Amino acid sequence: MGLRAPFHFLLLLLRRPGGPFRGLASEGPREALPVIRIPQPLKLRREARARGGPAPRVSVPRPGPLLIAARRPEFSQPLRFTVGRWERAPLASRGWKHRRSRGDHFSIERTHRLVPALPEESGTGSAFAALGLQPRVLDALCQAMPSVVRPTWVQRRAIPPLLSGHHLLCAAETGSGKTLSYLLPLLQRLLRRPRLTTGPAPRGLVLVPSRELSEQVRAVAGSLGQGLELCVREIGGGRGMGSVKSQLSKEPLADLLVATPGALWKALKRQLVSLGQLCFLVLDEADTLLDESFLELVEYILSKSPIAENREELEDPFNPRAQLVLVGATFPEGVGELLSKVTDLGNLTTITSPRLHCVMPHVRQRFLRLKGSEKVTELIQALKHRGEDNPGSSGAILVFCNSSSTVNWLGYILDDHKIPHLRLQGQMPATMRAGIFQSFQNGTKDILLCTDIASRGLDSTRVELVINYDFPPTLQDYIHRAGRVGRVGSEVLGSVLSFVTHRWDVDLVQKIELAARRRRSLPGIKTFVKEPLEKAKVMNRIINET
Ligand code: ADP
Ligand code: MG
Repeated sequence: MGLRAPFHFLLLLLRRPGGPFRGLASEGPREALPVIRIPQPLKLRREARARGGPAPRVSVPRPGPLLIAARRPEFSQPLRFTVGRWERAPLASRGWKHRRSRGDHFSIERTHRLVPALPEESGTGSAFAALGLQPRVLDALCQAMPSVVRPTWVQRRAIPPLLSGHHLLCAAETGSGKTLSYLLPLLQRLLRRPRLTTGPAPRGLVLVPSRELSEQVRAVAGSLGQGLELCVREIGGGRGMGSVKSQLSKEPLADLLVATPGALWKALKRQLVSLGQLCFLVLDEADTLLDESFLELVEYILSKSPIAENREELEDPFNPRAQLVLVGATFPEGVGELLSKVTDLGNLTTITSPRLHCVMPHVRQRFLRLKGSEKVTELIQALKHRGEDNPGSSGAILVFCNSSSTVNWLGYILDDHKIPHLRLQGQMPATMRAGIFQSFQNGTKDILLCTDIASRGLDSTRVELVINYDFPPTLQDYIHRAGRVGRVGSEVLGSVLSFVTHRWDVDLVQKIELAARRRRSLPGIKTFVKEPLEKAKVMNRIINET
């Protein structure tokens, strides 16, 4: 580019309609002389030489694979470069708070062709067996999911400690197979523990934040349970207490119950179910369950569960107590405060994946700076041209909005454009909401307009494109939404397209871009359990400080 640049500039000057060479011949010698600008890198180098210092390093984009591909090529970053931890990075989104940046765009390119959570084959035979799972459980897995043969990273790490009875907090990236990582060992432990009472008292409980996720986990657990002769039932909100009651009292009684906090809370209050026999309690999508909207309900459920203080209590044949498991794709905040009320934090084993909170390397993520009023046109374009690059593909798209009213409003616009789609948002009546995600998964329609209720935990292996019509309000939400593509078992790796309109969106985009350029995790999300200070310690500190 160094040599070509001056000619390039000359050409530009010549091409400009009002440029300095316009009508030179006809208007005679009185016309102003052409201005030839020196390219910036050359100018910098000459200035540095004049000062006597070393020439500054100018990064000139060269052909080759890119990590960041920007509209303005000087902001592209080659794949072989990584910006240092303390180094200032030239961000493509730096000026994006200014309205003149509208129309600009950049993308974080796909650098891996495989899902990193499922490592390459190493050795022969079923590696699941090497983790300590019994042949009976392995047979049930083989019957229920014949395609699952090699354990993922998180399954390798989580199954052994769960089998040996540790309380576990497991935070690993979206779509890495966390459901099986807790279901397989916990169902195996359940086989060893006999049922002691006759009433509705499940021996295993999985708590999830949405009805759709409870249906999904019930389906996975149910298919495993068939081979193990365990009965799995599910209770979710919105279907009335009649349905909850019948699920809990139906014969055979549930060995494993999958529930949302609201439905279980109501059932506990009406004494329709007892948690006294629990062998394990799982909080799936723990970060959402420990969020303000659920915290009170979850605290109540935990207070009704006999959580073991230590491993000896877990194995006590006369008074068995429960193993506690928390899983999620982002680390739950405030987990220390909550857990310290029910168990000793010293007994908690924590597993965090090395790629936790990192920008997914196998999913292309595109950011488009737009005016709010341009978003609809851009969306319609994307929806109409879906699957064109990949003719044999499903073309399934998830469109995320920040509110239920935007989902409805966009739905009417898509109806006007005769674009078939489904809608899923939290303010829908439960009867309308039932089965929507499943029918999207089954391929009834290829477009789902939704709020963040579809961003947590739902397995969407058909999805090829996630569109953030509204930019997510937090980095955690971005991680969860983007995690609907590029999952273990996904048909294609997929991509994410985000519309960026507000100044506060730009702050988040800059953090994501910087993390991608540095190949580090997204900032500001905790990755450890913070132990709450005991009252005595706090008092001591106050006394010492005064
Ligand atoms: P997470 O809870 O981590 O987001 P899920 O448990 O929903 O992920 O699993 C994502 C997808 O990966 C599911 O479709 C599941 O069937 C599939 N899966 C899980 N473990 C394996 C494995 N070991 N091999 C192949 N596919 C797997
Ligand atoms: Mg999950």
